[in-house]
Amino acid sequence: MADGMTSPGLAPAVRIAFLGGLGEIGRNCAWFEMDGRAVLVDCGLMFPDPEMLGVDLVLPDFTYIIENRDRLEGCVLTHGHEDHCGALAYLLREVSIPVYGSEVTLGLARTRIEEAGMTDRTELIIVRDGERREIGPFDIEFVPVAHSVPHGFALAFHTPQGVILHTGDFKLDLTPVDGRRTDLTRIGAMAAVEGIRLLLSDSTNAEENGYAPSERAVGQVLMELFEAHADRRIIVACFASHVHRIQQVADAAMASGRYIATLGRSMARNVAFARELGLLQIPEERLVDIEKIAGLEPREICVVCTGSQGEPMSALALMATGENKWVKAGDDDLVVLSSHAIPGNESNVGKVIDGLCRTGAEVVHSGLAPVHASGHAMRDELKLLISIAKPGAFIPVHGEYRHLMHHARLATDLGVPAGSVLLAEDGDVVDVGAGGVEFAGQVPAGYLYVDGIVGDVGPGVLRDRQLLAEEGVVVVIVTVDSRSWHVLNGPEIITRGWVYAPEAEKLLDEAREVVLAAIEEPGLPEPASIDVESLKRRARSGLGRFVYERTRRRPMIVPVVMEA
Ligand SMILES: [Zn+2]
Ligand SMILES: [Zn+2]
Repeated sequence: MADGMTSPGLAPAVRIAFLGGLGEIGRNCAWFEMDGRAVLVDCGLMFPDPEMLGVDLVLPDFTYIIENRDRLEGCVLTHGHEDHCGALAYLLREVSIPVYGSEVTLGLARTRIEEAGMTDRTELIIVRDGERREIGPFDIEFVPVAHSVPHGFALAFHTPQGVILHTGDFKLDLTPVDGRRTDLTRIGAMAAVEGIRLLLSDSTNAEENGYAPSERAVGQVLMELFEAHADRRIIVACFASHVHRIQQVADAAMASGRYIATLGRSMARNVAFARELGLLQIPEERLVDIEKIAGLEPREICVVCTGSQGEPMSALALMATGENKWVKAGDDDLVVLSSHAIPGNESNVGKVIDGLCRTGAEVVHSGLAPVHASGHAMRDELKLLISIAKPGAFIPVHGEYRHLMHHARLATDLGVPAGSVLLAEDGDVVDVGAGGVEFAGQVPAGYLYVDGIVGDVGPGVLRDRQLLAEEGVVVVIVTVDSRSWHVLNGPEIITRGWVYAPEAEKLLDEAREVVLAAIEEPGLPEPASIDVESLKRRARSGLGRFVYERTRRRPMIVPVVMEA
């Protein structure tokens, strides 16, 4: 495996700590360390589940990074998706490190960093296809991969322990829109010459049979749709970072003589940015401002917009509720959702489709026609990559537990020794050393919830919110004499979400009696042994029992005892 010059037995081990992305789709983040120096691979966010009430975003747990920040020498981004770079702005408030990535990746990440006001203290370093760079303790090679955002990389760590290849997000599209294929030749050469000691590979589609369709196939479907609806205005929603999809929408629009208008802030920004970089070919004269489309015929217009995930305030969601300032959807419209709902977003997407259908618009989505192609390799592609890389050890990354499990099975089926296939999860630490590739402990890797500003919300707060959402709250306020502990005022009961107070006067009267009895219960100990806390406990348990007996509910009970 090693080149013979250095023996892995004498060389330092490489340590990898998984801080996110193994056990969920999102918040991808891994710590790579050698000789006491480290680099971070990706720093992504996750969108919250509906039960994470009030949570805007979920980040990796930064505890380990912050505790070891003196040893961190940079962050390497595989590509520009939010689940890989969306948490960077939050991390950069805690640590000051250079960030490496392709020009596109850094362009997409930059807006996040600017929003956080961290631009001045952050060095962004562009790396090119195939380049090798010393970053921290590592010699990292940037291997091109095809994905649903341009210019993504797999990372090959050339270490004294052999090559560690991290695929990032990838597919093996043989006819990508920009012609930039996943560099299987280079991966094969590394496998043949140096050997690949450990492969970490994208598991998102490990349950999907076959090959992911080529991105180019979507272009053909779009062309046909545009032809079949020649007289209608056409609105296409997709990810603002999916430049290749936008190109194909634009190609179909231009082929049918339409002007293209962007709608949604990130769409406008990314189209401008991608045209600047020469990644998006739309001549100036085919673009029109969204304010100007009112002066055009429906058949002359193609609107490319955001909101393909059903995001509540997005351009498409506002269209579905008739609140979009620029586009009122109706009979003359064809709306195409060129996307697939990320887990958790299905119901929002469903609502948006419903709303659009109500306006009279014709709606086409990926369930009706192949207007979307996944950016992640499916089973046959995953097998092909493992066959070419011939890794000595394998760790599936980027997926929910079942994706990781199926991907691990694929690797053993393809001959990676079972003892060297590690089903790691968030928080696991793995050492690549003389003894093999093996688990080496754990680091904190819980969810970091963002609600407005970071660090605001812990799991306890979320549990409270769930209880409040499901059962409501009953607050009981009582004033007692600080010497005799007799009730001077109240109890007063205020409730939200338990019973509707005006209609439950009698129940609330009874509840007041119950609290009074609980506090002034005969057999109360000597005043000296009473305190506010014990009275609160009495009020809470007495009232809790009553509420459950009478309503079979368990709202949050908040006793407030004041001394006078
Ligand atoms: Zn991605
Ligand atoms: Zn991803």
